[in-house]
Amino acid sequence: MSDSTQPDVDVVVVGAGFAGMYLLHRLREAGFTSRVFERADDVGGTWYWNRYPGARCDIRSIDYSYSFSPGLEQEWEWSEKFATQPEILRYAQHVAERFDLYRDIDFETSVDKAVYDDDSGLWHITTSRTETVRCRHYVMATGCLSTSKLPELPGHGSFTGPTYHTGHWPHHEIDFTGLRVGVVGTGSSGIQSIPVIASQAAELTVFQRTPNFSMPAHNGSNDPDELAAVKAEYPEYRQRAKYSAVGVPADPPTRSALDVDEEERNQLYEAGWQIGGLGGLGVFNDLRLNQQANDTAAEFVRNKIRSIVDEPELAETLCPTDYPYGTKRLCVDDGYYSTFNLDHVRLVDLKKTPLERITTTGVETTDESFEFDAIVFATGFDAMTGAIVNVDITGVGDRTIKNYWEDGPKTYLGLTVAGFPNFYAITGPGSPSVLSNMMVSIEQHVDWIMDCIEHMREAGLTSIEPTPEAEAQWGEHVVAVADLTLYPKANSWYMGANVKGKPRVILPYIGGVGEYRRICDEVAVSGYSGFILS
Ligand code: FAD
Ligand code: NAP
Repeated sequence: MSDSTQPDVDVVVVGAGFAGMYLLHRLREAGFTSRVFERADDVGGTWYWNRYPGARCDIRSIDYSYSFSPGLEQEWEWSEKFATQPEILRYAQHVAERFDLYRDIDFETSVDKAVYDDDSGLWHITTSRTETVRCRHYVMATGCLSTSKLPELPGHGSFTGPTYHTGHWPHHEIDFTGLRVGVVGTGSSGIQSIPVIASQAAELTVFQRTPNFSMPAHNGSNDPDELAAVKAEYPEYRQRAKYSAVGVPADPPTRSALDVDEEERNQLYEAGWQIGGLGGLGVFNDLRLNQQANDTAAEFVRNKIRSIVDEPELAETLCPTDYPYGTKRLCVDDGYYSTFNLDHVRLVDLKKTPLERITTTGVETTDESFEFDAIVFATGFDAMTGAIVNVDITGVGDRTIKNYWEDGPKTYLGLTVAGFPNFYAITGPGSPSVLSNMMVSIEQHVDWIMDCIEHMREAGLTSIEPTPEAEAQWGEHVVAVADLTLYPKANSWYMGANVKGKPRVILPYIGGVGEYRRICDEVAVSGYSGFILS
């Protein structure tokens, strides 16, 4: 019989997306034993689940890729600036094979429950295969955008045709040719998939509740000279990314949008629009801080929409007006706005006529009934906290994470939680996470966790837990930084506003990737200040 005071493994990792995969690799190299549990039947996480037409990254692939292996980054060839979902999934599979990760991952296995045992100081992790594993450290690499969300509408499940959620797309090809299709949602997933679905469908109806700001991707194959130049200096390039604002090397803008006259401002925006991508209009330093500055960028994009969309009233419906530019996640598209010039594509403004119910044949708004052959829900995720609270996690003294986070997530550094010793959340709430190139943030968290548990091993320590004071101070700092910006003005998923009943608090840390890294490093160098180690 096994000794219940001893762990089965040093570390249990939940999730085999980019975070779980890199963590497994580092754990093995450092000589820790581990088990990785993954609900899917393969690696890739986001890129395993989100197989909708048009899915691709919106951060350039030379940036949105692992930096930990010089061999990998030199040998892997991205075929486009923004790689498609199948290519990114192939990359994840290649990494799993290259570093021999598959053999330590239990696929088709969900973690349902995790209980901290005060007596042994071990976590007891229960899986959907009803196995319980004891471990010293428990890491949630469960992803910020992995819990998909359907609209809370009467009649769900009554539609007799096929329905799809972009975050849970089938593995076989879906052909919409000749069909009447309805798409609900115009966030990044809707905006990427709508032009592709429109190219197949006989009729496409898009249901928009809130219009989004979207930048052109100007995608295409990578310039071989640029690629060679980046590869020649990849270590320095990655270093710059690590200390940047959002995890992509860029010189920060130094001027206010209000320091220049309208003509110069619009010339700079135009040049940025021609470059495209998320950072295209990031030519001024106060767009997310000052409403007046922000209005200039917002109006520039609205004018672009007006110039692309033929019908003026339709163009106005597509123009975002009730939140500042960039405070809902910006989108990056390939022909989104021009899709609405097609005769067989229709936009329904749900602000005027809200969705009322799903019916057996389609959907109903307050003033019309629509019949479809297929419905696509591009309705997003219970972001950042969903995958964590979905597991029944109990820490010291029967404290559950679900109850503890009832009024919003509480973390120290977005990584750890008071009352939950040896528990870590990769890219958790309170870290830069979704406001960054996630690859940079994932690697940073994994490296920090590895340094921490190696330090504990060397020092003969078995437990680390943040103090409630450090956690509270960090929470206040996260909110204070957000309050300096315009982000709280938007009803975004960054604020938890997309899920009914979810507390409205800022979820990611807006202080910047480089600044955040310095803080985390200082905490470690100072002997893990803010933590109780025993
Ligand atoms: P995930 O990739 O989400 O992996 C988490 C894994 O955990 C999943 O496979 C899930 O099945 C598993 N899991 C969750 N709960 C459990 C459980 N209880 N038991 C077992 N397994 C569980 N970020 C960028 O920086 N740039 C981009 O261009 C970009 N594009 C994106 C496009 C889409 C469509 C989406 C949805 C997100 C995008 N993101 C992007 C964010 C993306 O989620 C991250 O970049 C990154 O892939 C997250 O990796 P991860 O390993 O942390 O989480
Ligand atoms: P999202 O941004 O949350 O968008 C969901 C859309 O569905 C919104 O337009 C929302 O409207 C609408 N919606 C939700 N519930 C609704 C309801 N009951 N009735 C009507 N409309 C409803 O989700 P997402 O598009 O899946 O993107 C999530 C995040 O994943 C992105 O922000 C990004 O970080 C990442 N992502 C990235 C890419 C990429 O380009 N690489 C692609 C996809 C996703 P409201 O705005 O009014 O709530």
